[in-house]
Amino acid sequence: MNDPDAHARTALRLIGPDPQNWVPDRPGIDHNVMIVGGGQSGSAFAFALRRAGIGKIAVIDMAADEARAGVWLNAARMNVLRTPKTLPGPECGIAALSFQAWYEARNGEAAYAAVERIPRAAWAEYLAWYRRFLGIPVRYRTRLLRIEPAERYFRVHLEVEGVEAIETARKIILANGVAGNGGTYVPPALTEGLPPHLYAHTADAIDFAGLRGKKVAVVGGAASAFDAAGVALEAGAASVDLFARRAGSRHRPPTASSPSISRSPAPATSSSPAPARNWPSSLTTSCYGATATSHRPTSKIPILAPILTSARLTNILKKRRVRRPI
Ligand SMILES: Cc1cc2nc3c(=O)[nH]c(=O)nc-3n(C[C@H](O)[C@H](O)[C@H](O)COP(=O)(O)OP(=O)(O)OC[C@H]3O[C@@H](n4cnc5c(N)ncnc54)[C@H](O)[C@@H]3O)c2cc1C
Repeated sequence: MNDPDAHARTALRLIGPDPQNWVPDRPGIDHNVMIVGGGQSGSAFAFALRRAGIGKIAVIDMAADEARAGVWLNAARMNVLRTPKTLPGPECGIAALSFQAWYEARNGEAAYAAVERIPRAAWAEYLAWYRRFLGIPVRYRTRLLRIEPAERYFRVHLEVEGVEAIETARKIILANGVAGNGGTYVPPALTEGLPPHLYAHTADAIDFAGLRGKKVAVVGGAASAFDAAGVALEAGAASVDLFARRAGSRHRPPTASSPSISRSPAPATSSSPAPARNWPSSLTTSCYGATATSHRPTSKIPILAPILTSARLTNILKKRRVRRPI
């Protein structure tokens, strides 16, 4: 039987065993390096440090388990990655550990050549393989609460399975993704004006099935917004309106593979349907100067994208203010 990991195994054999840990132990130090976040960045750091002969590394992640960590099986709702498949990943220069090698070993070279962009679920599966194959242990249910500097090391305040604990580390790598970039934000106009069951952030686990027949507003006009709009429509939402802060839009010129959706003049909503129109399989918009591409294989996505200023949106929300349940 074919072993899909044969090439990867050979590559590891040829680079030789992991170097011994050359970092001298220090009394009272639990970890030479604590990596916060077990996603692709944290996992790649763990492997690279090990290959550099740095032992006593801990990788922690606040998620309950691998499937609930990071975005790929959670907040990311596009079907394929937005990054080109040719960009390097966490393979640390070892080609046999790359996504391409992993994918070809399972599906063949022709299948990889046929892939335009990496399917999101395949990427998540590859990352799980990467951790398992390279033996990178991630301590899930372990959340970083606070970093306290001590003399030439850190006291790391954690919540481990709901219980507070302190461990010590000489160095810390923050690979905590979106949470490390300020986290998510819901404008006060929503949090103060609507009961919690009427809004959600795209980072939340959203009950899209519950939106069947509902009119949905999506605040934001970039990648996650289009993904959420697409999923809501696929789940049977009556209409979806996208609201973007910036007046006007800067679209990439349409190409054969990724034509743009024009946001002006505003098309009809799906509740007052526009003439049947085949939306492209790849929708492109640009926002805040960055280009974002939403790849959903939906053939008909009637997305309404009125452009409103945030002040006007706030006024509208205020007028519709719903009292919080007591
Ligand atoms: C909707 C969406 C779509 C995206 N699409 C793409 C794309 O197509 N291509 C692309 O290159 N990038 C994309 N990104 C960006 C993507 O998040 C990163 O490229 C990738 O996940 C970064 O990996 P990471 O390991 O740095 O972070 P993550 O994969 O986010 O991992 C961070 C980990 O840190 C953990 N963590 C956070 N805070 C703590 C804490 N206090 N204590 C312990 N653990 C903690 C989290 O649980 C998480 O598992 C997308 C992001 C989003 C939100």
